[in-house]
Amino acid sequence: MTIGGVGVSAQETFGVVNPATGEVHAQAPSCDRDQLDQAMSAAASAYTTWRRDEAERRKALHAAGDLLMAKAAELAPILTAEQGKPLQDATFEVIGAGIWLKHFADLEMPREVIQDDSRALVEVVRRPMGVVAAITPWNYPLILACWKIAPALLAGNTMVLKPSPYTPLSTLAMGTLLAEVLPPGVLNVVSGGDALGGWMTAHPVPRKISFTGSVATGKKVAASAAPDLKRLTLELGGNDPAILLDDVDPAAVAAKLFAGAFQNNGQVCSAIKRVYVPERLYEPVVEALAAHARAAKVGDGMAEGVQFGPINNRPQFDRVSELVADALAHGARAAAGGRPVDGPGYFFEPTILAGVSDGARIVDEEQFGPALPVVAYRSVDEAIDRANGTHFGLSGSVWGTDTDRAAEVAERLECGTAWVNTHLALSPGQPFGGFKWSGVGVENGTWGLLGFTELQVIHRAR
Ligand code: NAD
Repeated sequence: MTIGGVGVSAQETFGVVNPATGEVHAQAPSCDRDQLDQAMSAAASAYTTWRRDEAERRKALHAAGDLLMAKAAELAPILTAEQGKPLQDATFEVIGAGIWLKHFADLEMPREVIQDDSRALVEVVRRPMGVVAAITPWNYPLILACWKIAPALLAGNTMVLKPSPYTPLSTLAMGTLLAEVLPPGVLNVVSGGDALGGWMTAHPVPRKISFTGSVATGKKVAASAAPDLKRLTLELGGNDPAILLDDVDPAAVAAKLFAGAFQNNGQVCSAIKRVYVPERLYEPVVEALAAHARAAKVGDGMAEGVQFGPINNRPQFDRVSELVADALAHGARAAAGGRPVDGPGYFFEPTILAGVSDGARIVDEEQFGPALPVVAYRSVDEAIDRANGTHFGLSGSVWGTDTDRAAEVAERLECGTAWVNTHLALSPGQPFGGFKWSGVGVENGTWGLLGFTELQVIHRAR
């Protein structure tokens, strides 16, 4: 772990499984309460100086981004071995993390004059908050950590970061690396089980919690933050709909739809998780998606040419297996895939489910894996109602040849990002967040940066 700029081990460790084999392949440190206190104290003490010099912070974030990119070949295999994603995707993730750090290194901090007259000069400025407790999930450990590190540190905060117990190693390695370019205590990285997350959110030191993970845990985090009125950003689960309009060309959109649903083996908060198709186009769309699923190469992420690795962990593998089996038992048809791959590891066949509708668990719940239900609809109003008829509201997409009409439908989606003829198009400057149970606040862009600040009014009488 990295505490106060120094690498430290813990008295106890826990096993980290390689999902391609199902075997423990490494041990990670289990941070105890005393060590968490030390990490929080280190962050609080670093804050007193880190907050003062914006130019130094920008320089350090650039150096951090450059370092990550330079060390991509070192970090990527660590990520693949614990997360499962193909080495090339892991490399892209590390480079993406570096891009995020460098984007924020140059992002301007807003300072607005709202009154300037004979009576007063009134400015709205932004102040850092203090120590941020950051907690991340296992699907994109590095890039999602940098969605937090980059804006939080630029704003002048310091951080204690905890990765998921399924994927601690790449984040711990990143913490070790970044200690070369960040002052001691600015970024502390600790690892442990879920309980460590609870200790962090209840800890008296942090003023802000930035959490990415499931809805169920997000609610616990919010409850834990409430007694101390800690500020919160929650990036939670999604059940993104893609609505195809009747002027769509199935052959033309199938590759993009498939990529939007199966990127990272479907383990993306804002992946397409259900597809709504006009009845007339239903069979051609199912068949086009199924052709992509059948052609996909699944295997150990360290092997050449692999497109999809295993599902990351046993509980998630069991959950995807259960949701697919439930759909099939209730009359769905597997147009492609439909079952786990024989052999060791948590591999599951890329699956397209037809003959399935709202009410089936795989349509109503977040599957977070390589299985996609395709649902037929009769009218656009009905499709929108079904798309919106959920507690989730992360993102969604509308697909059609008449893009103005598609954009009108997109505006009726109740979600944080509504894409037209694309899905999963994200960038560091574009805010990202969820409606309803999919989140509180946003990450990325100026809006994400502001989430790591307190608003302060400077009112000078004249
Ligand atoms: P999870 O909620 O199980 O765990 C997320 C993190 O929270 C882990 O680090 C875990 O150790 C920690 N944690 C667990 N219990 C805690 C507690 N009581 N207090 C504090 N921390 C605790 O989620 P997961 O299974 O790792 O990730 C998958 C979920 O994350 C999916 O629902 C996915 O949609 C969501 N996700 C959302 C986004 C987004 O930006 N909206 C991005 C990626 C993933």
